[in-house]
Amino acid sequence: MPGYEFFGEEERKEVNEVLETGILMRYGFDGPRKGRWKAVELENAIKETFGAGYAQLTSSGTTALTTALTVLGVGAGDEVIMPSFTFVASFEAVLSVGAVPVLVDVDETLTVNPDAVVKAITPKTKCIMPVHMCGSMADIDALQQICKEHNLVFLEDACQSIGAKYKGKCVGTIGDAGTFSFDFVKTITCGEGGVVMTNNEDTYIKCDGFQDHGHDHKGVDRGADLHPFMGQNFRISELHAAVGLAQIRKLSTFLEIQKKNHQVLRSYLQQIPEVSFRVIPDPEGDSCTFLSWFLPTEELTRAFITEMKAQGIAAGNFYWFDNNWHYIRKWDHLKSVTALNKLNDAQENGLKKLGTQDFSASDRVMSRCISTSIGLTWTEEQLKEKGEKMVAVLKKILSSQPVTA
Ligand SMILES: *Cc1c(COP(=O)(O)O)cnc(C)c1O
Repeated sequence: MPGYEFFGEEERKEVNEVLETGILMRYGFDGPRKGRWKAVELENAIKETFGAGYAQLTSSGTTALTTALTVLGVGAGDEVIMPSFTFVASFEAVLSVGAVPVLVDVDETLTVNPDAVVKAITPKTKCIMPVHMCGSMADIDALQQICKEHNLVFLEDACQSIGAKYKGKCVGTIGDAGTFSFDFVKTITCGEGGVVMTNNEDTYIKCDGFQDHGHDHKGVDRGADLHPFMGQNFRISELHAAVGLAQIRKLSTFLEIQKKNHQVLRSYLQQIPEVSFRVIPDPEGDSCTFLSWFLPTEELTRAFITEMKAQGIAAGNFYWFDNNWHYIRKWDHLKSVTALNKLNDAQENGLKKLGTQDFSASDRVMSRCISTSIGLTWTEEQLKEKGEKMVAVLKKILSSQPVTA
């Protein structure tokens, strides 16, 4: 899955070009930088690679989401509908703009269930933010339709699905805005970094200003820039952008390897009739960073993961084991409203409800789900061993536990 697996000469060369000039900032210093504009180059490469109208780099995926929410007018007291399964960054960004995260159930797509989204709409709802988890996409057409009908902002958190496509378009480029993360464990990495993509020029101009203290970038120098609105410092550095530039050139190779390894592993699991697979709204467009699949019951899932662990292999589960970061069940800090700063009243009230909300529909999906991260550097031998081991463990647990789903 992550780009760091293929880190090497190309990244070092790009970074060294920045180090040679010593200009680590993406703006200004026109003479000394000797024509090297890594952030601008990476933004152009992103537009080209993903077919986005505009691309604004930021310091992280979290700040990309914060920037997008802000420029799309999501603020104090607004409700943002998002899934119960994501990385904590998604609700952190919502909270940071003063808005209220309204969490709804996921289904076997591992992303928001459109019916649950409709049920959660109130007069305060401003935005629907699906999260294209684990390399694949939400039901974008259905969600876009809901946004149209209710006049809501559509923001795609595509941080985990770089290179996934929905009906021929890259995820993250379809909504009013979309974001990628380039943190160290994502499909391509800058070390730390993120991007907001949009097809709307006004949205882009606002992103450009907001992530740089509100600079309009029109002055003869930075001091002479005007500030049409307030901003933040969410800038990316040239060093990080340089790493990303080397990585984005490798993306098609990463995707090719992921798809190949994914297919092989899937063919092993397909031998077991009790295994079912994640529902993918556009299977052709899966970026294949994960192979996500289900067993019929919680008990079997638990038994499978326990046995894999005993054999020293992480199976990938966001519900039972060793992961406090991706699913509502383990977000006690959110449910108990544990914040260092004072939240606004709408946020306090909204979060208190989360503690008692019924997420049993999500539980039924997540407690049976195994998401196997697809390695880029696996040899054919290792892949075969992995597949055979998974099949052997599955046969073992299925023979000792009756299926009573
Ligand atoms: C990684 C991630 C983010 C945040 O990205 P950072 O670059 O780590 O801040 C946001 N949403 C999802 C779904 C992610 O996986």
